[in-house]
Amino acid sequence: MTGKFLSLNDAEYAVFVSQLRQANERLNAFNFIDENKKSGKIISVKDNICVKGMPATASSKILQGYTPGFNATAIQRLEDNGFSVIGKTNMDEFGFGSFGLNSEHPAKNPFNEEYVAGGSSSGSAVATALIKEHVSIAESTGGSISAPAAFCGVVGLTPTYGAISRYGLIDYASSLDKIGFIGKSADNIREVMEKTVGSDPKDTTSLSTAISNKNSHKLYVIDNLMGGIDEGIKDRFEELLVRLSTKDYKIEHVKIDYLEYSVPAYYILSMSEASTNLAKYQGFKYGFKVKDFSLNYNDFFMSARKQFGREAKRRVILGTFIRSKSIKQKYYEKALAIRHAIIARMKNFLKDGFIIMPSMPIFTPKISEVSDISPVEAYSMDMLTVPPNLCGFPHMSFPYFYERGMPLGAQIITDHFNDYSLLDFLSEWEIGFKYKFKEEIG
Ligand code: GLN
Repeated sequence: MTGKFLSLNDAEYAVFVSQLRQANERLNAFNFIDENKKSGKIISVKDNICVKGMPATASSKILQGYTPGFNATAIQRLEDNGFSVIGKTNMDEFGFGSFGLNSEHPAKNPFNEEYVAGGSSSGSAVATALIKEHVSIAESTGGSISAPAAFCGVVGLTPTYGAISRYGLIDYASSLDKIGFIGKSADNIREVMEKTVGSDPKDTTSLSTAISNKNSHKLYVIDNLMGGIDEGIKDRFEELLVRLSTKDYKIEHVKIDYLEYSVPAYYILSMSEASTNLAKYQGFKYGFKVKDFSLNYNDFFMSARKQFGREAKRRVILGTFIRSKSIKQKYYEKALAIRHAIIARMKNFLKDGFIIMPSMPIFTPKISEVSDISPVEAYSMDMLTVPPNLCGFPHMSFPYFYERGMPLGAQIITDHFNDYSLLDFLSEWEIGFKYKFKEEIG
C-alpha cells in the first residue's frame, strides 16, 4: 500500500523549513527541526523516540543535551524504506499527561491557539494537522495518541502491544508503551505501519504475529462507560451511530464489568513502572550531568532529580510508594487482576465486532480551563482511552464532527493483531473526512 507523502527538492525544502519554523513559533509543535535538506518522504517523530544525531529530550530538562547515536528500530526501518525525519515533536514530559501542558512550552491547538492540543503526543498531532500529507511517529501508554488526535482533528492509530519494537523508545511504562502513528489518511498510516511492524531481537517483547484485517459491521457500545461523558459529546456520538447505521453497521449496546476501574488500575500500574524506568536518570549517563563529585549521596542525586517536572516527581513518589512491600497487595496486585479481568471481558466482544466510543469525555478544553485542575481530575479524562491501552488492543481515534470551530474524535477498538481492520474502517469513513486544518503547509 502506498500513501502520499511530502517529498521536496532543495529549493522547496528551504521554503518549507522556514514556513515550519514560523508556524512553530505560534504552535510549539516541534522541540527540534532539522535544517539539513532531506531526501525522501517526510515524517516527524515524537521526542521520546531516538533518531540518530537528533536531540531526544522527551520534553524533560533532565534529558537536555542527550543526542542518541542510534536509531530506534521503527525509525531505522522507515529510513531504510525512503523516509526522512524532519524533526522531533513536543510532548508532555516522558509522556505524562493528556493535554500537552506538562511541557515547558506547551503545544497549542492549530484550530484555535487558546485550546489544548491534547497529550501526551501533542506536537505529533499538531504537526500532522499542520503539514500536508504527513505522518508523525508517536507513542501511547494510556491514550497519548488518541487524545491529541481527537483534539486536533487527525487520525491516531495505536497498534497492538508488541507489534512494533520499543527499542529506542524512552520508556514510560514498559508493559503499556506502544509506538504508533498520527496521520490524515488510511493509506499513509498503512504504509508506515507495514514498514515498521515485526519482531526485533533488540526488544524481546516484540512479536512477529501477522497482522490481519478481519472486518466486521458490528459495533458494540459500552453503556456503563458512558456515564462520565459530557452530554453534548454524547449527543454528537449518538448522531455518529445513526450515520453508521445507515451505512449498514449494526450497533449493539452492552455492559462490560470492571471497566469503571480501568483508570485507577492504569495509573497504579503505569506509575509503578514509571518510577523504576525513571531511576536511570541520576546525573551520570544521559543528558543532565551533575559535575560536583564532592556532594554527598543524597545531595548528588537530588541535584539531578530535581530537574524532573512536577508531574514526573509526583509519579516517581507515588509509584515508589505503590511498589513498597507492605502495600503491594493492596494496590499493585489488585490493579493487575483488574487488568486481566478487563482484557478477558473486552476480548469476548472483540471476537466478532469492534467497540466504539467517543475518544475523549469532553469537548477540547481551553488551556486556561485545564491548567489548574487536580491530578485526579486530569487522570479521569483518560476514562475512554485507558481501556484499550491497558489491554494492548489496537485502537484508532478518527475525526467525525466539527463544532464551535473545533474537531471531535471517536475511537474504535479491535482485537489483538487485527490492526489493519481499523484502517479498512477508516478508508470507508474517509469519504466523509473533511475537517482539515485550513492553513496546511508543504
Ligand atoms: N494521560 C496518560 C498518562 O498521563 C497517558 C499518557 C500516555 O499515553 N503516554 O499516563
